[in-house]
Amino acid sequence: MDQSQIDALRGAAVAKRGHIIDGKSVPASDGATMDIVSPIDGSVLTQVACGTAADMEAAIASARASFDDGRWSGMPPAARKKVLLKWADLIDANALELAVLGVRDNGTEINMAIKAEPGSAAGTIRYYAEALDKIYGEIAPTSADVLGLIHKEPVGVVGAIIPWNFPMMIGAWKLGPALAMGNSVVLKPAETASLSLMRMVDLAHDAGLPPGVLNAVTGEGAIVGEALGLSMDVDVLVFTGSGGTGRRLMEYSARSNMKRVYLELGGKSPNIIFADAPNLDEAAKVAAGGIFRNSGQVCVAGSRLLVEASIHDDFVAAVVKAAEAMPVGNPLDMTTAIGAVNSEVQLAANLGFVETAKSEGGEVITGGERILQDIGGFYMAPTVITGVTPDATLTQKEVFGPVLGVTSFSDETEATRLANATVYGLAGGVWTSNLSRAHRMVKSVRTGVMHVNTYGGADGTVPLGGVGQSGNGHDKSLHAIEKYINLKTAWIKL
Ligand code: ADP
Repeated sequence: MDQSQIDALRGAAVAKRGHIIDGKSVPASDGATMDIVSPIDGSVLTQVACGTAADMEAAIASARASFDDGRWSGMPPAARKKVLLKWADLIDANALELAVLGVRDNGTEINMAIKAEPGSAAGTIRYYAEALDKIYGEIAPTSADVLGLIHKEPVGVVGAIIPWNFPMMIGAWKLGPALAMGNSVVLKPAETASLSLMRMVDLAHDAGLPPGVLNAVTGEGAIVGEALGLSMDVDVLVFTGSGGTGRRLMEYSARSNMKRVYLELGGKSPNIIFADAPNLDEAAKVAAGGIFRNSGQVCVAGSRLLVEASIHDDFVAAVVKAAEAMPVGNPLDMTTAIGAVNSEVQLAANLGFVETAKSEGGEVITGGERILQDIGGFYMAPTVITGVTPDATLTQKEVFGPVLGVTSFSDETEATRLANATVYGLAGGVWTSNLSRAHRMVKSVRTGVMHVNTYGGADGTVPLGGVGQSGNGHDKSLHAIEKYINLKTAWIKL
């Protein structure tokens, strides 16, 4: 990737899009569309179908019909694998076009997007394609006069609701294992980041995925997302997004067919720095990257910095220096380290958190404001706030923006207590040269992922999932497959 290749794509016209139902592009049943606003400069990029509940029902019916007639679920695993591998290859072949389209839609800096979006999506789909014919049923250790077989069956129709921060990467985390196991899927992309994911769905069909197996409906969460959640014909609902929406999805399930609901929600992940960290400069740079990349719009972002009191001032200074060295700007420029905030609404919410933090005694050391208004887009300076108390809003509530709250601690016991003092439990990090302490912290901090002497970058071989109000179930690794299968027992008298 070089800048001239990006520049050749950055101004390209973006065609209007419909839903994808039964392998065809279709408009909303009432003809409604919604504008797609680029966070880069606030311009309208294109329009997509603004779906109705009837559109969602048509997509679910298509998925159900495709599942029931076995056009995918009944295909030999080797044939399914071939389609998915071809799909991954097509994503790789179109990576730059997909990445630039995605960045124009959601604002992530291109340096990150090229790897985290098409790169990671292709890798994820390939991983599950390669796995699908290596997953066996089981024979139970019964007495000799019976045979107990445990079959692993696809669940049927999977509903997948995707957020706007990494639409292709997170989309692939759900689509890869769901499709590999023979399910049919109805996808609901986020309002403010649908274009690249919809293109990825086109490519699945180009790769030979039969029509109806993967349907995608664009529009408002409260309308089409609700219709998906309330459907009597969706067997499993998988979601990444906010806690408020996750709570609603559980209610939809309870009010309809009690479908299984898997939620990957927010976090308030502590990054814990001990004075004996092996390299404090490195720790400061990684801590800054771990909260400011993609403008903090990362579910595992290390948004709470817990620093041992003896190094607090020096370490904060190093983090501020690292933050100020990260250029904020047009996400399509390769020199940009921090791109645009996804939407004006999100930017306003971020700024609101800064005001609240100040009113609760926090001190803004750097950032705290909107910048680059002349470009017309939505940009925020990386923000470091010290003196954040354990009960402050900035400790307890996820911002999902480039805002780092700092709290100091005196010893390991206090660090652990502070780390665990939120309703969340998605990720965390600990920096120390003391091996025993590192292991103790891994055990005692209540999270799904704990980093040691690094932050972020855990690849697709390990599971990602939260505890507490960060959710349930796992994306990535072979563990993700559990969400997309049913176990069925055959108990056979011999
Ligand atoms: P955020 O608040 O960060 O935008 P959301 O949880 O609202 O996160 O959005 C994540 C996804 O959830 C998006 O695809 C959005 O359309 C969808 N969504 C939002 N509200 C609902 C809802 N009431 N029912 C189902 N899906 C929803």
